[in-house]
Formats: sequence, structure tokens, C-alpha cells
Amino acid sequence: MDVTSFGIDHNTLLRGIYVSRKDTVENGVLTTFDVRMKEPNREMVLDTSVMHTIEHLMATFFRSHPLWSQKTIYVGPMGCRTGMYVIFKGDLEPADVATIMKECYDYMSSFEEEIPAAKSEMCGNFLDHNLAITKLECKKFADEVLACLKEENMVYPRQNI
Ligand SMILES: [Zn+2]
Repeated sequence: MDVTSFGIDHNTLLRGIYVSRKDTVENGVLTTFDVRMKEPNREMVLDTSVMHTIEHLMATFFRSHPLWSQKTIYVGPMGCRTGMYVIFKGDLEPADVATIMKECYDYMSSFEEEIPAAKSEMCGNFLDHNLAITKLECKKFADEVLACLKEENMVYPRQNI
């Protein structure tokens, strides 16, 4: 089994936007982005309620975006709770999505309305949300990382396995 992410040195991985994988499908390429909000094994992970709220807000942002809704395949949380996966149509690099990702995090950090689809008929755990902490975490990531992305926030540190 080739699991590309096992070749990344998580002990030196920083916060940022990374290409997790590219898959060639019938009509082109799909790019999976690793949107890493916490330094693995060195920072406190995100609460599950925060991951859940980010999932709802991020999916809403991309699925309702005039341009990016056409390219968005999937948005979902990482099991380790240090970030999100986002899959877009196209052969893309972190620099191609840096601006839209900053817009997405600005949208989430200033979100004031009712969390979309957080109702029992639309969600598997509708009470498990936390908008207040989500806004703080998204603002922190936008200000400290997305506003000043450097190469080390866009290229994985590799290790030999
Ligand atoms: Zn849900």
C-alpha cells in the first residue's frame, strides 16, 4: 500500500497548505490539499466540535462560491485533528489556492449566522459544534499562516521510510 503521507516527517511539518496527493481520473487530475492548522505532535489539536464546525462552514464556502464550487470535490477533517483535507478538480499547487483559502478562513473567522446544516435532519451529530472557538482558530490560522505563507508552509518535509 502506497500511502504518501506516511513519507512526510510529521515531527517537522509546519502549519500551511500542502499537496497531499494528485490522482489522475478519467477527465483529468484531482488535487488533494492538506490544510494543516496545527503543528503535528507539538501543538494542541483542534477540538472535534471545532473540526465539525469548520467542515460545515468550509463546505458551505466552497460549494456556494461562484468559481470554486465547480472545482470542489470534497472537504473533510483529518482524523488526527490537526487540519482539513480539500479536494479540487485540476492539477493545482498551494500557490494556486492560497488566495481562495485565505478568503475561506476570513469567511469562517467572521461568520455570524446560524451554522449551515447544523440541524438533526441534516447532520449526524448536530449538537457537536462550537462557532466561537472555530472563529478564533480560523482567525489565528489566517493571520499567522495564510497571510504570510513561505515555502516551508507549502512544501512537505520528507523522510525516508
Ligand atoms: Zn455535521
